Amino acid sequence: MNEAELLFTQVLNCKRPSLYFDKGLKLSKKQSEFIASSLKRRIAGEPIQYILGNTEFMGFDFKVSLDCLIPRQETEILVETAIKYLNSLPPANFRALEIGTGSGCIAVSLAGLLENITITATDISQEALGMARSNALLNKVSDRIAFLNSDLFSSLPICDKPYALCISNPPYIPSKEIARLQPEIQYEPRLALDGGKDGLNFYRRIIADSPDYLENDGFLLMEMGFGQCKKIKEIFKNCKKFEIIEIVKDYSNIERIIVAKIKSK
Ligand code: GLN
Repeated sequence: MNEAELLFTQVLNCKRPSLYFDKGLKLSKKQSEFIASSLKRRIAGEPIQYILGNTEFMGFDFKVSLDCLIPRQETEILVETAIKYLNSLPPANFRALEIGTGSGCIAVSLAGLLENITITATDISQEALGMARSNALLNKVSDRIAFLNSDLFSSLPICDKPYALCISNPPYIPSKEIARLQPEIQYEPRLALDGGKDGLNFYRRIIADSPDYLENDGFLLMEMGFGQCKKIKEIFKNCKKFEIIEIVKDYSNIERIIVAKIKSK
């Protein structure tokens, strides 16, 4: 649906075809006031997802607020790739770790699509975790996701490498570039976007620390920003603990997902 259709179907609580074929549809005063104020906000640059307070990701409904990044289409490829690799393993009850869950879109859709998975999902922002928790409840997977307030791995209990998968869509925009991006991005939490001077801070930390949490042959999957693949490969090479097994491109042919596996000893 385009943005106008999203707005009107939500306000009128109807399906898309009704907008075009249901001649009886009328806006109440309250509804037209909401449309008018939404248009003002949208024209000022606010993303439609924040105005409506929700979005769709991997076929699931998600609540979103200014406290969390809006789930992106590219990130669906990250989730699909993770499912492909987990399904290639002998059937088991998998444990996964998500670093920086934001709205919870990755953890919630993984749990919604795989019955045999339990997930620990971390975020440094309490507010984002609140949103992620309500999205887990909304999609009825809250019994299989443990949410943890943590700066990356720092509050995770050190245990015996239980995770088959570590997954992350880390903040990856170089700090100075953020202000130059479109107005919509400026509404999103800086914490969710800012990857430090070269945009790669979180890749360095996740690649360095995740081996302590991944089981033998465990996978690390991350989304990458435009043009970052080569440098991220180098960080992996210097770490020596992983082998890179696949780079997945997005719909615009940009190298978007990196899949690495802990080297067998
Ligand atoms: N995991 C969330 C997402 O992919 C949040 C990511 C982030 O805040 N950088 O949308």
